[in-house]
Amino acid sequence: MVTLDFGHHCGYDIDGVSVVGQSIAVNYQMIQEDIQQACERSGRSASDVALIAVTKYVSLTAAETAVQQGVRHIGESREQGFSQKWEGLQQGISWHFIGSLQSRKVKHIIDKVDYIHSLDRLSLAKEIQKRSDKPVNCFLQVNVSGEATKHGLASNDVLPFIKSLAAYPNVRVVGLMTMAPHEEDAEQTRPVFRRLRQLRDDIQSASLSHAPCTELSMGMSNDYVIAIEEGATFIRIGTRLVGHA
Ligand SMILES: *Cc1c(COP(=O)(O)O)cnc(C)c1O
Repeated sequence: MVTLDFGHHCGYDIDGVSVVGQSIAVNYQMIQEDIQQACERSGRSASDVALIAVTKYVSLTAAETAVQQGVRHIGESREQGFSQKWEGLQQGISWHFIGSLQSRKVKHIIDKVDYIHSLDRLSLAKEIQKRSDKPVNCFLQVNVSGEATKHGLASNDVLPFIKSLAAYPNVRVVGLMTMAPHEEDAEQTRPVFRRLRQLRDDIQSASLSHAPCTELSMGMSNDYVIAIEEGATFIRIGTRLVGHA
């Protein structure tokens, strides 16, 4: 796999040609090919995998370039960056909030967001319930690896937590989200993704009307190929697509 890392020189021009723009185009094509091949290997359809461009490190211009390439999902992890990109970009985009979400920020994003990937506590569910006038698509964030530094529910707490969400009809559990530990060898992340998928299947078979739980948000720059092989339906890619300013 070829990686174009335009780390420190993000945004410079040579003879009026944006290097970043070219890199994003190349990166986008490369990721599309990876998605296609990972789907072929695992008997899936590439149309079942949505690519979220994570633009938290980069400018509005870089996000616009990604959209020109064909990106239709944008992810941000802070309220300010989220609102800035939302205001600056054309319509026709699905908006994803992927970072840990403070309850007091919910009111600023609730009318703009299409998916919240970081539901991890009842107080946040209560705030979503209160601030929205319709069901909001939410992923439960699960700390599969159990690392102390990671947000998310412990695997064993997921089903009881989901059952308690029945009291909040504006919280619709569309799926589960996780972040795998960073590994030099991405293959090492496979058990984490496999575990999330098993959890998703368990919840699905409980047939809870407020928790269809069909989706899996997993896979980042370092490990998205493995995540797709293990069933990811949303991958969240920042550095390898739009760079890391
Ligand atoms: C930043 C971030 C990403 C993207 O990370 P990259 O390694 O740059 O692809 C994905 N998911 C979450 C939750 C993030 O915070």
